[in-house]
Amino acid sequence: FTGKTGSELLTEKLKKFKVKEYQSIPIVVEEDVSAYDAICTMFLEDVGTLFVTNEHGHLVGVLSRKDLLRASIGNQDLSSIPVHIIMTRMPNITICKPEDLLLDAAQKLIEKQIDGLPVVEPAENGLEVIGRLTKTNITKALVELGRDQHL
Ligand code: ADP
Repeated sequence: FTGKTGSELLTEKLKKFKVKEYQSIPIVVEEDVSAYDAICTMFLEDVGTLFVTNEHGHLVGVLSRKDLLRASIGNQDLSSIPVHIIMTRMPNITICKPEDLLLDAAQKLIEKQIDGLPVVEPAENGLEVIGRLTKTNITKALVELGRDQHL
């Protein structure tokens, strides 16, 4: 018997959760696809955040539902607006790495008031997107922890 309380054990477990254990598959579009096509991709793939890459496959931006709603206001032709015009762009992208603690990634989501982070790995002259970490992934981890599947 370790003498640790239940909540000490929970905290210990929680602090070991890594991003790579909970990340989802990233949905990526190239920077020259249209806002119209990005909306279609969001519905088809059932995600709220798309990651935008350049011709080298490197991360250049993030596109959220609100970015697309903003672009839809007014009578612009969404099929003629490329996503790189309306996305949030590098270097202002908050990222995480597969080895990062889930708790640290969760703190970034709260601090930046965003729904998701790209999980990245360094590539030559840029970052490769290898995953997607969202509030849903954090919620799943929390439920797992609470249901004792890890204790
Ligand atoms: P929604 O727009 O659906 O509410 P978010 O709250 O995640 O989704 O996005 C709010 C704003 O923050 C958008 O302009 C989006 O481009 C930007 N954003 C989303 N994720 C990130 C990120 N990881 N790094 C930087 N900016 C982001």
